[in-house]
Amino acid sequence: MFRHFDILFTTESLFIYSYKIMIEREQIEMDVVFVGAGPANLAAALHLKSEIARHDELIDRGIKHGRKIGEIEIGIVEKGSFVGAHILSGAVMDPKAIRELMPDFLEQGCPVDTVVTEDAAWYLTENRKINAPIVPPPLKNKGKYILSLSKMCEWLGEKCEEAGINVFPEFPAAEVLYDENDRVIGIRTGDKGIDKEGRPKPNFEPGVDLLAKVTVLGEGSRGSLAKQLMARLGLMEGKEPQVFSIGVKELWELPAGRFPEGKVVHTLGFPSDTQTYGGGWVYGMKDNIVSIGYVTGLDYVDPNIDPHAEFQKFKTHPAIAEILEGGKMIKYGAKTINAGGYWTMPKLFADGVLLVGDSASFLNGQRIKGIHTAMKSGMLAAETIVGALEHEDFTSKTLRHYDEKVNLSWIYDELHPVRNFHGAFQKGRWSALINSGLQFLTKGLAWGFMPKEHHVAGHERMAKLTESGKWQTENGSRYSNVPFDKEYTFDKVTDVFHAGVSHDEDQPSHLHVLDTEICATRCVEEYGNPCQRFCPAAVYEMEENPGTGRKELKVNFSNCVHCKTCDIADPYQIINWVTPEGGGGPNYKGM
Ligand code: SF4
Repeated sequence: MFRHFDILFTTESLFIYSYKIMIEREQIEMDVVFVGAGPANLAAALHLKSEIARHDELIDRGIKHGRKIGEIEIGIVEKGSFVGAHILSGAVMDPKAIRELMPDFLEQGCPVDTVVTEDAAWYLTENRKINAPIVPPPLKNKGKYILSLSKMCEWLGEKCEEAGINVFPEFPAAEVLYDENDRVIGIRTGDKGIDKEGRPKPNFEPGVDLLAKVTVLGEGSRGSLAKQLMARLGLMEGKEPQVFSIGVKELWELPAGRFPEGKVVHTLGFPSDTQTYGGGWVYGMKDNIVSIGYVTGLDYVDPNIDPHAEFQKFKTHPAIAEILEGGKMIKYGAKTINAGGYWTMPKLFADGVLLVGDSASFLNGQRIKGIHTAMKSGMLAAETIVGALEHEDFTSKTLRHYDEKVNLSWIYDELHPVRNFHGAFQKGRWSALINSGLQFLTKGLAWGFMPKEHHVAGHERMAKLTESGKWQTENGSRYSNVPFDKEYTFDKVTDVFHAGVSHDEDQPSHLHVLDTEICATRCVEEYGNPCQRFCPAAVYEMEENPGTGRKELKVNFSNCVHCKTCDIADPYQIINWVTPEGGGGPNYKGM
């Protein structure tokens, strides 16, 4: 353990001077640090532990030649107040990866909720439901597991602790640490106890530097460190831009017998327009609980779209409303999904670092599934790290084997044939459905002959209000007339209450809006301040400044559910989401 000194600069606005204090910042040396306790990293850490034991045993028994690794220090840092606090998914899990990780996962107590017994695919018009006579093969889930991913991660976190892995909840990773050659050497965790003006409070505790031979970033969709890393090391060079969707979800408790346990419904159509990627789900869980939600592509064109309002509208459809009648909403959450798939995956390695799970776009958008691919990516990262530890080489020369392992695994077999799926939807629903059918027949060739569909980043697709008049006319008042009756449909503030969000209000905002002048001048004219609509937690508000008479941006950061939509969808790319003080954010227990 080392200590080193750092300088904290803060500004006292009244007197306009800066002062500095010396911070004694602890340095802790570990072997491997995982950032984010999601399914990818939890599986990676467990697999790393068991693969090292297996490697050493094979050497002991003379079956394998090489160097033993022995005990190593593994750490997992997690910004949530407990493992699972910030984990949100539908979720229907394909058990392929967890079976490889832990063949007896059920006997060991993995908290799956129920087994899928029935699939349905519905096309929704404004008032009608058309039940597809045949469920498209990618949406067949019979035999898979409906579960709360938050619960599963909490359980995997316990398994990690039992295996001797250090799990640090309430430790947000604030920045990547590099050496002079841009090799990643660990991460710095966020400081605690800074007031909203940036001054240290009596409970001030500096973040620590966790130094590691290998750092694994598995922060989920639009990871804040992954974003820094990709920009600094050019990991997206030669790749298609990452594209995202947002899923808005509620858990409902229904009257007994209303919706069958084990039934999985996926919908297409209402309320999305045909140019917007979107669809809904209803999953029947145990004890008359249903998971219900709606996904909207964050590459929508119409700046008036509000993904939370889309979900509320979805619930008013007669086919959905009759399911919910007499029920009660018990939990709410929202999260982005890295939807682009194979072409949008960054370079997965650099000196000292690997990227896993949603941070690296491992989700299969066609199947709307990413837990199994995230876990498998983590396991392949773990196997790569075993090789790096054995040869004591943590440079790209050894870590590149991760990329090779991914391309030789079933991840490639699953993601490569659907590589053009999301790109097709950027051209509209009807052509995408034909295009996807041809892709299905040709193992992924767009329109049956083109190797690659081009993807456009969502913020570049958003049209200005002047250009989007067509949309407003088509859609009429669809965004202003959502009926928030507080029984079946809820406004954002009511929903946020059900996300269990908490942040200490006396801390700097973790939403860095780099130029608020743009919000008050250009954005109001050009896009009508879409942050007020795309944020599912009513964080952004344009409020009249009585002094100037103009509307200015107010950021209610304490509402934030950490979905990252603003960082992704802002058309000027001036919102930078950074980690708040550890433990702050939603409480998705059971989601
Ligand atoms: Fe999501 Fe940004 Fe709103 Fe937070 S502020 S809930 S990250 S859109």
